[in-house]
Amino acid sequence: ANDYLTDPGIYTVFQFAPAVRATLGEEFGFPAGVNVERKIVEALKKAGADCVLDTNFSADVVIMEEGTELLNRLNDKNAVLPMFTSCCPAWINFVELHKPELIPHISTTRSPQAVMGSLIKSWLPEKKGIPKEKIRSISIMPCTAKKDEAARQALAKDAVPDVDLVLTVREFAKLLKGKGIDLRKLEGQDFDTPFMSKGSGAAVIFGKTAGVAEAAARTVYYVLTGKNVNSIQFKTSEHPHVEQELTIDLGEGKSPLRIGVVHGLANADYIADEVLSGKSPFDFIEVMSCPGGCINGGGTPREAGDYHPFNLERTKVLTTIDEKHSLRQSHNNPMVKELYKEYLGEPNSHLAHELLHTEYQDRKSGKKLRAEDIWKEITLC
Ligand code: SF4
Repeated sequence: ANDYLTDPGIYTVFQFAPAVRATLGEEFGFPAGVNVERKIVEALKKAGADCVLDTNFSADVVIMEEGTELLNRLNDKNAVLPMFTSCCPAWINFVELHKPELIPHISTTRSPQAVMGSLIKSWLPEKKGIPKEKIRSISIMPCTAKKDEAARQALAKDAVPDVDLVLTVREFAKLLKGKGIDLRKLEGQDFDTPFMSKGSGAAVIFGKTAGVAEAAARTVYYVLTGKNVNSIQFKTSEHPHVEQELTIDLGEGKSPLRIGVVHGLANADYIADEVLSGKSPFDFIEVMSCPGGCINGGGTPREAGDYHPFNLERTKVLTTIDEKHSLRQSHNNPMVKELYKEYLGEPNSHLAHELLHTEYQDRKSGKKLRAEDIWKEITLC
């Protein structure tokens, strides 16, 4: 990243994920639970970034694409249901390697990181009037699996990746410290790019378990009923491998929409088998591999042996941003509306499919492992 930042011939474009603003502060001595979003923008500018964008924006775009895909599947009696979310690359790797039969159930919508990467190498050069060859797209993520995602061939254009480099939260902290930038000494500043830099409250909760499901539910509910809702209450599930669930009544003559939330790969493994055996009660299922969601990702700050499956302070940061946000639904984000009006046409359009959707591969090996067996192997090591 430093080479890109110091090369005057390179135009550096950064994005950072919802969970980064809830976790980076801990690397600089802030207690858990401090939102450092504005400090990150200023730190990046001080470090020499040419353009800073918010992955919250592309999370809203994901809801437009994935929500439309879900509605299309619900309206097609031959479609494959339930549909799983696709924004967690560790979950996608697990399916490709161990349960490829499940691939038709996975949403084809790219993750927020990949959606932003694609737009950085397609729409942004048009908006900024900069040749895309000069652009390097760098993301800051709570997740080690996002590095692997960025290297997927299906997420490159003419063999050039949409995301050139991924830094974890801890790596980003190291970069800033190496440049003498201390988050504690910064006032913070707003995003200064007039596009791809604003996300809704629905987008920021992508960083915690049940966030993607709720963001999708807010938009699907609007499309089906015409009513905007600021939040939707999920209930604790009685299913032993499902954390939360929601049933949305869609009115007379319509089947209710049933949504399940799963976190932790061991749970996802069981739910995958349930779906494959045709016994799942759900239409739409969110899966996050990390217990608690991305706020507990493998790239976030942590001490050895210090692991909190439900880091309530970090979770609270994202919940509070959402609750105080003036914009609570992805479909009402004005920057998202501009993207579709000016460039993509409509969700799931031909261009949206080309740029914002992907395909998956059957990479199953001869060896079959359940997640809990993999976990046992790791623990034994
Ligand atoms: S849940 Fe974990 S593995 Fe999945 S995207 Fe978030 S940080 Fe990455």
